[in-house]
Amino acid sequence: MEFPATRLRRLRSTAAMRSLVRETHLHPAALVYPLFLCEGEGVRREVASMPGVFNLSIDEAVKEVEECAELGIGGVLLFGVPDEKDDQGSGAWAADGITQRGLRAIKASSASKSLVTIADVCLCEYTSHGHCGIVQRDGEHYAIENDSSVALLAKTAASLAEAGADIVAPSDMMDGRIAAMRAVLDAAGKADTPIMSYASKFASAFYGPFREAAGSTPQFGDRRTYQMDGANRREAMREIEQDIAEGADMLLMKPAMPYLDIIREARDRFDLPMGAYQVSGEYSMLHAAFQRGWLEPERAMLESLLSIRRAGADFIVTYFAMNAAKIL
Ligand SMILES: [Zn+2]
Repeated sequence: MEFPATRLRRLRSTAAMRSLVRETHLHPAALVYPLFLCEGEGVRREVASMPGVFNLSIDEAVKEVEECAELGIGGVLLFGVPDEKDDQGSGAWAADGITQRGLRAIKASSASKSLVTIADVCLCEYTSHGHCGIVQRDGEHYAIENDSSVALLAKTAASLAEAGADIVAPSDMMDGRIAAMRAVLDAAGKADTPIMSYASKFASAFYGPFREAAGSTPQFGDRRTYQMDGANRREAMREIEQDIAEGADMLLMKPAMPYLDIIREARDRFDLPMGAYQVSGEYSMLHAAFQRGWLEPERAMLESLLSIRRAGADFIVTYFAMNAAKIL
C-alpha cells in the first residue's frame, strides 16, 4: 500500500469540495439581534464601547426590526432602557413600560410576522441600584432577596407576554423563577408563550459594555451571589436540569466564546432547543481589534459565530446579526 492511504487533504482541494463536506453552517434565520429601546423619537444613540450598536427610540427600533426581517434574521431580543428607575424596578412590569410599548409597536409592523420577538425578563435595567432583584440592605451588608424578586420577575414576564412578546427570556438567575413564571403566564392566559431560560448564566467580565448600553451597572457590590461562578461546569448542568424540570421550553447559554465547553456539554446532555449569547464583551473585543487592523473583520466575525454553532448552539444572539446576515 502506498503511503499514506488516507489523505484527508483530498476533500479540501477546492472551494466546491470544501463546501460539500462542510459540517456546520451559519444561516441568518439562526441569528437573533439584540435591541435596546429608549424613550424619545428619532433617537439613535451609539454605545461608545460597542461600535454599530445603538439605543433606539421605538420608531427607530421598528425600522431596525424591519431591516432584520428583510435580511431573514430569525428574531430580535428586546431590552428596555427606561428614563425612570426605582428600588423595585417597577418599569419592568408597567403596562406602558418602554419595552411593552416597543413590543406593541413592533408587533403592529409587518416585520413581526417573519421573525420572532423575544423579550428579556430582568429587573436590572429598571432598578435604581442595578441589581436583578430586590435588595435588602443592612448598613454595609446587602443581600438580593430571592423569592420576592421571583414574584416581580414573574409579573414582568406576564406583562411582556401581554404586550406581545413571542418568547419571554428570564436572565436574572434567581432560584425557582421558571416555575413561578410558568404559573403566572398560564394564569394570565399565556399558556402558549414559551420561556427561554438563561439557564446557566455566568458572572462574567464580558458583560461590561452591555451595562453601558443598558445602563444597568450595579451601583454597589456585584452579581456573584446569583450569577454562576465561571469555574463550575457541573453546577451549570444542575441549573439547566432544574430549569427544564420547572418548565423551560428552550435554553440560552451566556456568555458564548469563553464557555464553549459548557455549550457542548449542554448540547450532548439535553434535547431542548438551545441558543448562545455572544455577549457585548465578545463583540467589543473583536471590534477593538478590527479598529486597529489586527484582525480581518469579516473572517473573524464569521469564525467566532461558527465556533458557537459548532459547539452546539442552534441559534446565536449576536450584535453581529445584521452584518453577518448581509454576508450570508
Ligand atoms: Zn439582570
